Amino acid sequence: MSEVKELISVSLYNTFTRKKEPLTPLKEGEIKFYSCGPTTYDFLHVGNGRALVIGDLIHRILKSLGYKVTFVRNFTDVDDKIINKANEKGVPALEHAEIFVKECKKDMHSLMMIDPTFTPKVSETIPEIIEMVECLIKKNFAYVINGEVLYHVPNFKDYGKLSKKDLEGLQHGIRVEVESYKKHPSDFVLWKPAKEGEPSWDSPWGKGRPGWHIECSAMSYKFLGSSIDIHHGGVDLIFPHHENEIAQSEAANETNFCTCWCHNEFVNFGTEKMSKSLGNVITIRNFIEKFGGMVLRYIFVSSHYRTKLDWNNKLILKSIEELERIHQFIIEFEQLKSANVSEQSTFKADDVLSKIKSELANDFNTPKAMALFFTLIRDFRREFTSKTPTDETVQEIQKIIDFVSSSMGIIHSDANLLLKELNHSKKELSENNTDTNTAASIATTEQDIPALIEERNKAKKEKNWARADEIRNTLKQNKIILKDHPDGKTTWSYEP
Ligand SMILES: [Zn+2]
Repeated sequence: MSEVKELISVSLYNTFTRKKEPLTPLKEGEIKFYSCGPTTYDFLHVGNGRALVIGDLIHRILKSLGYKVTFVRNFTDVDDKIINKANEKGVPALEHAEIFVKECKKDMHSLMMIDPTFTPKVSETIPEIIEMVECLIKKNFAYVINGEVLYHVPNFKDYGKLSKKDLEGLQHGIRVEVESYKKHPSDFVLWKPAKEGEPSWDSPWGKGRPGWHIECSAMSYKFLGSSIDIHHGGVDLIFPHHENEIAQSEAANETNFCTCWCHNEFVNFGTEKMSKSLGNVITIRNFIEKFGGMVLRYIFVSSHYRTKLDWNNKLILKSIEELERIHQFIIEFEQLKSANVSEQSTFKADDVLSKIKSELANDFNTPKAMALFFTLIRDFRREFTSKTPTDETVQEIQKIIDFVSSSMGIIHSDANLLLKELNHSKKELSENNTDTNTAASIATTEQDIPALIEERNKAKKEKNWARADEIRNTLKQNKIILKDHPDGKTTWSYEP
């Protein structure tokens, strides 16, 4: 027996109109959703984690509210940063990118993310990218110069409509020494000619590779068509990336690209003791190893996606404690289902589910939805110390638990196991609280540096490039620069 899912209307804040408005899907009951994915050059940072988890949250919530969601999230596996990293190591760029696609997928799994419908990579979308660039040239929105294809921004009259920037204002902001071959300082690259040692593909303009922005327009068109309902990314992508996506897609497809633009705020690592305690250096992997993926996921899910998140130990502790409360409740609820207590309660939870749904449908208001869930937990504990719930109440509560689980992904299938892990996380946190050094990253006081250099050299010898890079990056983000000398020695200095 399949239950017909009730479709719940959603209202979302739209960056394009700068206000919250009801979302009218292009096709009733269906949502075409694109979220800009990670560039796989290294382990991802906790800040990248927020965008990933919010993308997953949007996907889950819309599905739970009854929509058929087609969700595309890309992997940028061709990019300058990847090429630079790969060249440092002397491995092919695509091979390097693939290592971190795999590492990224491991993190996504630990963060309880569910699979999108499609996860295209740039390296697998080259024909579609070339086709779109050709189309833009044909329609006079792009020009070719020395094997490079550039988008000519002034020919797209709506340029700046998402970021509310005007072309003249932009021109003032740009450095005077603009590359002379550009017709306009805001023109951006669609296709760049191949250089020695870089991945490249044949194209009508010679061997080369795509610029960054075009991939999302091409992938979105390939899997979702000309127009989509929701496009998501971090606020840092509004300009120029999303502005350029609009310019490319609307010029090529001659129709409105996206109805609702959703952007999640930053994680703010810059506060108070942060730079010395947790550091602005935490990779998702480091965090997961210390505290578990669920704790990180919960931090992002329980805060509203449009608020800036100040990163600190309190945030981690709050996440651990709230997860404990939820999972202790799950265990108590399971026990109560089979308990044999004579007095039955008249307790009812019937409107809690619809209230939680309404909050999630209201611009994904997860903090309010969670508050409702915690009120239920509190009331449940008060009521069922000496009484048992009716079968009807058990079913109601089970439905709420199932909904919270599927829509927000914050309930572990094994509550006892999670509680054990949370216990361990708490210990980690209290140890790290007394320590003046890092909680989730590698220690970075001066006396630790020689040991880290030694560990890095060992990792390099063992071809554990990921670990070697991680150490270099961690130090770099603490303003410590390593220099490898031809004789195999490594020295360090503070960033100038
Ligand atoms: Zn994108």
